[in-house]
Amino acid sequence: MAALVKQAREAQAAWGALTPYERIKAILPVRDRVLDRAERFANVVHREVGKPNVEVVLGEVLPTADVVTYWADSIEEMLDPQEIALDPLSYPGKKGALHREARGVVALITPWNYPVALPLRTLLPALLAGNAVLFKPSEISPRSGALVAELFEGLLPKGVLTLVQGGGEIGAALSSADVDLVVFTGSVATGRKVAHACAERLSPCALELGGKDAAIVLADANLDRAANGVVWGALTNAGQNCAAIERVYVEKAVAEAFSAKVVALVKSLRENIDVGPLATEAQRSIVVKHVDDAKNSGGKMLAGGEKGEKGYAFSPAVLSVENDDSALMRDETFGPVIPISIVDNAEQAIARANASRYGLTASIWSKKVKVAEKLAKQLRAGVVTINNHAFTGALPNAPWSGFGETGYGITNSALALDALTRPRFVLVDKNRAKRELWWYPYTPTLDVIAYAFCALRSKSTGIFRKIGAIFTLARAVPKRLMGG
Ligand code: NAD
Repeated sequence: MAALVKQAREAQAAWGALTPYERIKAILPVRDRVLDRAERFANVVHREVGKPNVEVVLGEVLPTADVVTYWADSIEEMLDPQEIALDPLSYPGKKGALHREARGVVALITPWNYPVALPLRTLLPALLAGNAVLFKPSEISPRSGALVAELFEGLLPKGVLTLVQGGGEIGAALSSADVDLVVFTGSVATGRKVAHACAERLSPCALELGGKDAAIVLADANLDRAANGVVWGALTNAGQNCAAIERVYVEKAVAEAFSAKVVALVKSLRENIDVGPLATEAQRSIVVKHVDDAKNSGGKMLAGGEKGEKGYAFSPAVLSVENDDSALMRDETFGPVIPISIVDNAEQAIARANASRYGLTASIWSKKVKVAEKLAKQLRAGVVTINNHAFTGALPNAPWSGFGETGYGITNSALALDALTRPRFVLVDKNRAKRELWWYPYTPTLDVIAYAFCALRSKSTGIFRKIGAIFTLARAVPKRLMGG
């Protein structure tokens, strides 16, 4: 690993020294390459993780093209030095600017559930900002990872992007290597290990971890839209989505009608066309365990919930659940299950939605948009959508982040650059005076000036004392500048 990091570091020096425009020119072909290879991506991802081909094209290929366009259009301006305003009276002759420098060598460790879109939404801004990247895809989706790396073939100098294949031990080695930043997307348990490894080296990491998203359906919701949206939000990618709806809180007045619509929709879904199998047996056994646990705690099956014959199939399940005491309502399920729970009112729904270790996204379904917007402010979630769910991960200009154990990483939008670059403040001083007011020697005149500034700036100082301070400064500052 050390040799790969060394190679990346050497390559980064030259890559980071290019102008953003030169880097954009090098990387821009990725946009059409990903679109032109849509079918290949769809087939490979489908074979590796089982999702329907159309989900790969809609959820991974097309959004990636948007990601390239967004960063290519905006990175130059984002990296431009920004002037920092300085008070000319306190700091005469000085000009300061914030420069964003590439972080250096970035390790990118990703999961299998969106094996194309997820790595690319970090790879593109990381590379365009001038970093070198060591990219480790999940061992469950290595071919998809290889296709992602191939998008850059012939576009980058050797060492700027390195594909590192392997499992947990390789991820651990990368997190402990001499890199400048680890960007990690995956489970809370692994994220914690990565955070420990980075803390040992006092190196930053950006963590995007699990979720337990809630959807809140209010009595005045458009029930058809809410049912369609909740079913898609819970079952797309067979529920193996960090932002899958894993809890539904519905107001009593519409609970029966809403549940009936959800059940009818779920029963109409076609195996492998609308909902694929789970990606691994390990994932399926978690789902089975959660459903069993909910049933044992009083939950009632309303649809599905059976293991299928082929692959790791599991028929999409709907349950009515009365409380949040089971694993199904507490822990990340990552599978095609919709638990519906009845609440008395919006306040109760918000309280139950917020009572989670996670806090990725949440949705409110209501026709009263103003009321929903007010409620949105009370939700402990990095993304709140009103009358929709989860799709905003595909918007390159909208930040994606979370609360609590979902981690503190931010992807998409200019905010992602806070991790991928480091700030350098550069100050230029054109003041020709022999010395600054605050330099040596410390004299009684300097004492007088310091206290006069305090009196002048404090809001509690009376007007007469302020005028007195101005006169004091008018006398003392010139004296001080003359060496007094
Ligand atoms: P995982 O934690 O098992 O693995 C993720 C990656 O970490 C893989 O590449 C794996 O090889 C690597 N890894 C394993 N052990 C490691 C170690 N000790 N040190 C460093 N790396 C190691 O997660 P998964 O099952 O692949 O992915 C599913 C999880 O990802 C879910 O919890 C899901 O919610 C989360 N996720 C979050 C987001 C988000 O944006 N917040 C997006 C997608 C997925």
